[in-house]
Amino acid sequence: MNKIPFKLSLLSLLMAFLSISIACQKADGDSTTPIDTTGNNVNPSSSEMLTLYKKIYGATDVYLEGNFVVVKTKDFPDHKSPYFKGTAWESTKYEAYTGSNPQFAINPNRISEKNLTFRFPVNPQEASSKSATPLGSIGISLNGVVFFNQYAGPNQPLTNEINSFDQHNGHPAPGNEYHYHVEPMYLTGKVGKEALLGFLLDGFPVYGPQENGKTVSNADLDSYHGHKHATTEFPKGIYHYHFTNEAPYLNGSGFFGTPGTVSR
Ligand SMILES: [Zn+2]
Ligand SMILES: [Zn+2]
Repeated sequence: MNKIPFKLSLLSLLMAFLSISIACQKADGDSTTPIDTTGNNVNPSSSEMLTLYKKIYGATDVYLEGNFVVVKTKDFPDHKSPYFKGTAWESTKYEAYTGSNPQFAINPNRISEKNLTFRFPVNPQEASSKSATPLGSIGISLNGVVFFNQYAGPNQPLTNEINSFDQHNGHPAPGNEYHYHVEPMYLTGKVGKEALLGFLLDGFPVYGPQENGKTVSNADLDSYHGHKHATTEFPKGIYHYHFTNEAPYLNGSGFFGTPGTVSR
């Protein structure tokens, strides 16, 4: 009579052991493609990277050149904006402000077509010495519009600039370069809050403000505003940035990797 409970407890021990080992396997990711523990990213091949960069549907050209992916863009949004007022595209692209900021005030700049050429490292790696992001373009979103960092000028917060963000969270700079400092609302409305949204100049990808159904906070990220784990596009794991709803929004204290270049 005593043997049955003994067998049952052996069985439950075995079950517990099995579920622990399954959980460990899951935590370690796919055992055939381990995440490199030396700190380097086990990145996709150049041609796989090129395929991912071709998700930038707003680009006018995307191709490989040596160790770089070259992306050309006109930086022209695929959505409407108050900043088309008085431009050649006013009749089709102008839309009055429809956002929720009662202090919205249009700035004197307008949207125009640009010719920007980005060169992203095709095999992004952590830089041994990190560099600050510059003012101006620091990356590109899937719709071809560029990303700017968290500053309005040298170390000047965005406090006043925010009031000139249109309903899609973009605005043009002097020189009419349209850009996003914060979550690109039109894009996340289109592809989702958890999706790949673009790349920063160091070649590391940018994801939306949510992950696994939860809002990402600054506390989930390091000082460069990213972290490393597997994503849909990078199942072996990769360092990536996230937009968050609070400053610094996209990038913290600089590029995690070695930045490529952007030319006008
Ligand atoms: Zn700005
Ligand atoms: Zn993440």
